[in-house]
Amino acid sequence: MSPQPSPPESPSLIDTLPVRTYTEFKTECLKCKRCRLAETRTQVVVDDGPTPCDLMLIGEGPGADEDAQGIPFVGRSGQLLTKILETVDIKRPKDVYITNVVKCRPPGNRAPEPDEEAHCRPWLEEQIKLIKPRIIVLVGAVAMKTLLGREKAITQMRGTWTQYNGIDTTIIFHPSYLLRYPSPEKGKPKWLTWQDMKAVKNALELYRSANAEQKN
Ligand code: SF4
Repeated sequence: MSPQPSPPESPSLIDTLPVRTYTEFKTECLKCKRCRLAETRTQVVVDDGPTPCDLMLIGEGPGADEDAQGIPFVGRSGQLLTKILETVDIKRPKDVYITNVVKCRPPGNRAPEPDEEAHCRPWLEEQIKLIKPRIIVLVGAVAMKTLLGREKAITQMRGTWTQYNGIDTTIIFHPSYLLRYPSPEKGKPKWLTWQDMKAVKNALELYRSANAEQKN
């Protein structure tokens, strides 16, 4: 179920914290060597999308294609994610800001280790402060566990809504999971993800209408 958004003028806690500019943040992040992933990456993969942005997607970490191109979600999984977003008229890169829990590729596409996530977490928190999203979508179990600390299965958690630092936050399946279960049949993961993205789109529309009313 979609959330009932709080009034857009109410700042969340992270909105009130002092931050450097996005350019300053990105320049530093691109040079980061805080964890061992710096030794094997080609480049730091920071972002895709406008700054600031109402909608922020957070995935797990770059894969081989992302490591090569320097853009998150551009491989097979990313292409599927792009198509899913387009089904609800959310276009990349203009309508959505996308990043990952870790900004450098874990070797062999393994999941990030807890210490790597911890080293990278300040970058992610700073991104959230700078992007000021109205809605966060956690893409897959790693993003869900990292930000919300939930240990439940993603099959139970997807489509649910909660708050992260005052921001409406929901969870969807990772597109790599959907590539393994490609059936579009009602009730299957792909269909469920479509329902989840429709809820995200509805929530975005609510925020935008509330914003427009305030300006009138
Ligand atoms: S994964 Fe994050 S913390 Fe580790 S080197 Fe890359 S940017 Fe730095």
